[in-house]
Amino acid sequence: MARLDLISPFLNEAQAAQAFISLVAKFEAEVGRRFGLTVHKILVDDGSTDGSAEIFASGLTGSWEIVRLSRNFGKEVAVLAGLDRVGGDYVLIMDADLQHSIEIGLKLLAELLGDPNVDVVYAKTDRSDSSWRRSQLARVFYRLINSSQRFDIPANAGDFRAMRAAVAHAISKLRDKRRFNKGLYAWAGFRQKAVVYSPEPRAAGSSKWSRLDLIAFSLEGLTSFSAVPLRILTLFGLLTAIGGGAVGVKVLFEVLFYGIAVPGYPSLLVAVVFLGGLNLALLGLVGEYVWVAVSESKDRPVYVVRDVISAPEPVKPKARPETSSA
Ligand code: UDP
Ligand code: MG
Repeated sequence: MARLDLISPFLNEAQAAQAFISLVAKFEAEVGRRFGLTVHKILVDDGSTDGSAEIFASGLTGSWEIVRLSRNFGKEVAVLAGLDRVGGDYVLIMDADLQHSIEIGLKLLAELLGDPNVDVVYAKTDRSDSSWRRSQLARVFYRLINSSQRFDIPANAGDFRAMRAAVAHAISKLRDKRRFNKGLYAWAGFRQKAVVYSPEPRAAGSSKWSRLDLIAFSLEGLTSFSAVPLRILTLFGLLTAIGGGAVGVKVLFEVLFYGIAVPGYPSLLVAVVFLGGLNLALLGLVGEYVWVAVSESKDRPVYVVRDVISAPEPVKPKARPETSSA
C-alpha cells in the first residue's frame, strides 16, 4: 500500500493541538478511503516550550513520529527536518495551527494523484482581499526576485503543498542554512501546479511572524535568490558618478570662461550628506550578501535533533549528519 507522509512543523501550538489531532484523524480516514494511501505523520517540534509535543504524543493515533529539534530553528528549517525523514511515496506539508484546511489538503492530493504529469501541487493564497499597498509591495518583491534567473518563484505560494517523494528528496538535498522555502521549491523545478485557496483564520494562538520578521525574511529571499539589488546599486553608483562629473565640468567651464564664482557650501553639504547616507545604506545591502556567504560557508548542520518520539515502533533516522541526535 502506498504511503503518504504528512509533515507538520509546530511551535507552541498547545492550544491548537487537540483540534489538530482530530483533524488529522479525519484526514487520514478520508485519504485511505479516497486514495487508498496509508498516512505516516511527521511532526516537527521547533523548540516548543508549552508542552505541545506531549499533547500531540498522547493524542496522535496510527503511525507517527515527533522530531524534536534542540531549539527553535524557524519554520523553514523545521520543514526540512520533516522532509529529511520522508520514507513514503507522497508528501503533504501542512501547518499545525489549523490554518490549512483538510479539504484543501485533500484537493492538493487529488490533483497530484489524478495527473501523472504533475509532481507538485501547491496551494496559492488568494490575496484579492488584502490591501492594495500590500499587494503592490508583494508584486515589486516578486518582480525583483524573479528578474534574474531561469526559474520563477510564484507569488503567494507557501509550504502548503503535496508532492511526489522524489521532489521531497530533491529538496532535502538543498542544505541552505538561511532557507527561503518558496525559492527552494522553485529552484528544484519539477512539474508544478497551483490550487488557489483562502487560509482559515487562526483558531488559537498567534502568528509567529512580526512585521520585522517579514522584512527580514524578504531580505533573505532577495539575497539568496537575486543579484538584482547589487546591479541596481552598481548602475546607480555609475549614474551618480557621471552626473557628478558633468556638474564638475560645467562648474569648471563657468569659472574659466565666465568668471562666475562657485556658490559653495549648501550644495556641497547636500551632495556629501546624500551620497554619504546612500553609501551607508548600500554598504549595508552588500553586507547582507556577505553575511549570506559567511553563514553558508560555516560547516554547521542546518538543525540539530534533540530526540525522536514515535509510534508504533521507533523509526530509525536516515544516515544524514543533520538528523543524528546530538
Ligand atoms: N512554526 C514553526 N516554527 C517557527 C514558527 C512557526 O514550526 O519558528 C509553525 C507554527 O506552529 C505553524 C506553522 O509553522 O504550525 C506556521 O506558522 P505561523 O502560523 O506563525 O505562520 P503564518 O501562518 O502566519 O504564515
Ligand atoms: Mg499560521
